[in-house]
Order: sequence, then C-alpha cells, then structure tokens
Amino acid sequence: MTIGVLREGDGENRVALLPEHVPFLVKKNLFILVEKDAGKASYAGDREYTEAGATVQTRANILKEADILLSINPPEEDKIPSGKVLVSVLGPLTNKEIVQKLAKSGVTSFSLDMIPRSSRAQSVDVLSSMATVAGYKAVLLAAGTLPNFFPMFMSASGTIRPSRVLILGAGVAGLQALATARKLGAVVEVFDVRSAVKEEVMSLGGKFVEVEGAKDEAGAGGYAVEQTEEYKRMQGELIQERATQSNVIITTAQIPGRKAPVLIRKETIEAMKPGSVVIDLAASTGGNCELTKNNETVVHNNVTIIGNSNLASTIPSDASKMLGKNFLNFLDLMLDGEGTLNLDVEDDIVQNTCITRNGEIVNERVKGAL
Ligand code: NAD
Repeated sequence: MTIGVLREGDGENRVALLPEHVPFLVKKNLFILVEKDAGKASYAGDREYTEAGATVQTRANILKEADILLSINPPEEDKIPSGKVLVSVLGPLTNKEIVQKLAKSGVTSFSLDMIPRSSRAQSVDVLSSMATVAGYKAVLLAAGTLPNFFPMFMSASGTIRPSRVLILGAGVAGLQALATARKLGAVVEVFDVRSAVKEEVMSLGGKFVEVEGAKDEAGAGGYAVEQTEEYKRMQGELIQERATQSNVIITTAQIPGRKAPVLIRKETIEAMKPGSVVIDLAASTGGNCELTKNNETVVHNNVTIIGNSNLASTIPSDASKMLGKNFLNFLDLMLDGEGTLNLDVEDDIVQNTCITRNGEIVNERVKGAL
C-alpha cells in the first residue's frame, strides 16, 4: 500500500504528515510518497522526508501511484482518479460540492472533522487538536493587538490594572484560551450554555458566568444544543453587561453543523471600551459577533474584531505535529498488520468519518445535511 502526502494550497502552512511521522508507517510496510515542498511552510524539507524513509515525487505521480492520499484541505483537482482513498478534513456537512465531486469520481473519502467525541477516537480528533492551537493563538493575537497589558503591574510609575478577558464557549478552544490568558495574568470570565464545564473553568482560574435554564442534552456527545428564545434574551443581556467590562472577548461558541449563534450584537461592540479586541473563532460558520467578517479584521467604533479562520496555520510546525499524529493514528486504526485497508463498516469511527464510497455518499449525517 502506498500513502501519498499532498502539498496544501496557498495560505495553508501546515502539512498532513511531518518527517517524524514517516518511520512508523514505513515499519508497517507502507511506501510513503511526499509531494515536493509539501512540508516547506512547516519547516520540514524534502531532504528530511527522504532521510525518514519517504520518496519525494511530483503531484501528478502521487495522484497516479498512491492508494491513500493525505491532504488537510480537500485537494483542488476536479477529478481524483477513481478507486483512490482520500483522508482529509472536508467539512462535509457544509461543503456539498466537494462531497458530490468525490462521490462522482469514485473516491473513498474520510473526513477527520467527523470523528465522534469518544475516548477511543480522541487520538484522531483533529477538531480538538486544532482548537487547542486556535485557543492559544487567539489569546496571543488579542494580547498583541490590545493597547493594554494583560497582567497587573505595580511599579514606581504607578499601578496598571490587569486586563479583563471574556470567553464565550468553554469547549476545547475556550478552555485553552482561558489557560493561556490566565498565564499572561488577565482576569478571565467564561460563559457557556453547558453548566457541566463550570468546574473545569474554575479549576483553570476562570470565573464562570451563568444564565439559569439552559437546555443541555446528554445525547449531544458533549456538544451544545439550540437554546430557547427566552434563554437567548437573558443570555444577550448578561453578555452585554459583561462585555462592557471587558478589554478582550474571545468567542468560540458553536453547535455542530449549524450556523454559529450570534452572541455579540453591534450595540454591544459600541458599548465596549475604546481599543478593545474581539477574536471570533467561529468566523468560518458565520461568527459569534454580528460584525465579524470571515478572514478579515474589522474596526468598528474603536473596537477591533478579528475573524481569522485558520489560526492553526499560523503555528505550522506544532500544528502539523499534532495533526500528523491524528492522521497517523487514523491510518493505524484503518490498516491491518499487513498495511492493507480493512474497513469495518460497523466501527463507529468508520461510520462517522467515511463520507463517500462506491460512487455514493454513505454518511448518514452528511446525507441529512445535504
Ligand atoms: P467545542 O464544541 O468544543 O466548544 C464550543 C463550546 O461553545 C461548547 O462548550 C458549547 O457548549 C459552547 N456553546 C455553544 N453554543 C453556545 C452559546 N449559545 N453560548 C455559549 N456557549 C455556547 O468547539 P471547539 O473545538 O472548542 O471549537 C470552538 C470554535 O472554534 C468552533 O467554531 C471552531 O470551528 C472554531 N475553531 C476556529 C479555529 C480558527 O483558526 N479560527 C480553529 C479551530 C477551531
């Protein structure tokens, strides 16, 4: 079996496998082909891949010779040859065209953003690993943009009060943002509809802001569910009140497969202190702030709203290290001892991640969403 690592398109600095991941696969009798310069933006050169046991090839050769293609973003080709397996991050619940194209081409595709949030699948969970990177970077970006210090300073030149950070959504990204903002010395408040996260927030040194009456569903796999109109009204009032006291807001609220809930209205931005910063991590699904523009920075009434949707790409070496491990663990689950793809269609990881097969869309959630 031959694995092909494709070079990502413009604007993406990460790569699906680093040289350090190659020996594990070589030991499993797999041949690894890597597209020329695939790791360049992650500071991994072709020579390092070769030394690790891979062969550097042109894209055309990889598309022809590899059985399994690895690419973080869906490959740009209109047609991937029939019979190939693609492991990628397709966003299949919203990327209808890509999914239909792959089905039509006869590609067996797996999308790692569809991994269930279970203990067994944790080592393959690309959403969690990349949300960790994004939560960390969101705080550094905010600290670099804010015209204030994060920590408190007491010096002969006077006392500087610590910045106040409000985090909306205490999932993977939110908790990482909380930990990072605390390390930088800010006072942090966190809001989430899931009261189950209260203890975690407190143990990381954050203050949990609560609105009574949230709907929480045990069957939602640790994810949030849509809230009632009355709840949303109360939540809006509380967020407005806390936002006006904050210097930084980091928003991470999401409900899988849906547009992000709008939690910060224009009026709230207008009531914030001049120089305040909002980092909206949910920009790609519409944003948690009404004024967010995906992949743009907007300044409104002296408040900077940053909607960078690919923060993980700004820490490419370590993001690729984590992502490469996720890809590697996925292959390890899918391939048998001989290095042959042996799909167990009853396996919940296969059921959740396999999107197209035998010329059809086979994933029930994706079929429902499309
Ligand atoms: P997650 O599901 O682990 O966390 C989201 C949290 O938001 C959950 O705790 C959920 O309960 C909470 N939430 C949902 N609706 C809410 C509401 N109305 N009010 C308050 N809280 C609410 O998700 P995650 O993995 O932490 O990712 C968070 C966001 O960051 C997602 O939108 C994801 O797409 C995005 N993300 C962005 C980047 C980037 O580079 N910008 C990278 C990775 C992830």
